[in-house]
Amino acid sequence: MGILDVKNVNKRFGGLQALGDVNLNVAENSVHAIIGPNGAGKSTLLNCLVGKLIPDTGSVMFDGQSVLGRKPFEINQMGISRVFQTPEIFGDLSVLENMMIPCFAKRDGAFELNAISSVGSQTDIVERAEQMLEEMNMADKRHMHAAALSRGDKRRLEIGMCLSQEPRLLLLDEPTAGMARADTNNTIDLLKQIKEERDITIAIIEHDMHVVFSLAERITVLAQGTPLVEDTPENIKGHPKVREAYLGE
Ligand code: ADP
Ligand code: MG
Repeated sequence: MGILDVKNVNKRFGGLQALGDVNLNVAENSVHAIIGPNGAGKSTLLNCLVGKLIPDTGSVMFDGQSVLGRKPFEINQMGISRVFQTPEIFGDLSVLENMMIPCFAKRDGAFELNAISSVGSQTDIVERAEQMLEEMNMADKRHMHAAALSRGDKRRLEIGMCLSQEPRLLLLDEPTAGMARADTNNTIDLLKQIKEERDITIAIIEHDMHVVFSLAERITVLAQGTPLVEDTPENIKGHPKVREAYLGE
């Protein structure tokens, strides 16, 4: 059994069936990609995994425990961390201060933004945040305003902020969307590095096939809210149904 086990998940928005009987099993310590055309239900599925949406029917098990009915922060504490489609960082704070926020939350279970000024004196938090920036190869940028970072570095910081919570499952929703090729390649290298250095499972929604085929060990293709096929990258590449539904052939 995988670390993440989704069974018969259905989700409707009014008359629209966004997810129809979705099954997904993600093996522990693997990189699993979910691909599919726009509107296929990828983000909806991800939202069902992190408690942002509640499926109408079906089950979502993480490491043998149901996530359904739990709040997003509880699911986060179970070990699931999610990187959003657009970077969610505080532009007015420094890179280091941004990194301190999840470190603080991990230590104390909560964080209040107006406490940031006093956090600087808490050496264990600063040390932990600096260590994470080191790991992300961002130590030289720690005093920069986060808003001044390149798109690729914002994403890098955000991934680091997720990792500082030491998740067992990292979820990414189109992490390279809108990036230039160089930043995309840096993100691929970063995710490879993370995979090598940590015991972590990565589930990634991605539009860019170059990213998918550089990282994924398994690929699930969603089309109109239903999994069309799940297989290895080699088999997915040549799959006639995938070429038809996804590549428009
Ligand atoms: P993807 O991420 O694969 O592009 P989404 O999961 O965002 O697809 O959307 C799947 C379908 O559900 C789309 O038709 C979208 O318009 C619809 N949808 C997504 N979220 C909502 C919502 N909150 N309310 C109504 N319809 C939604
Ligand atoms: Mg989406």
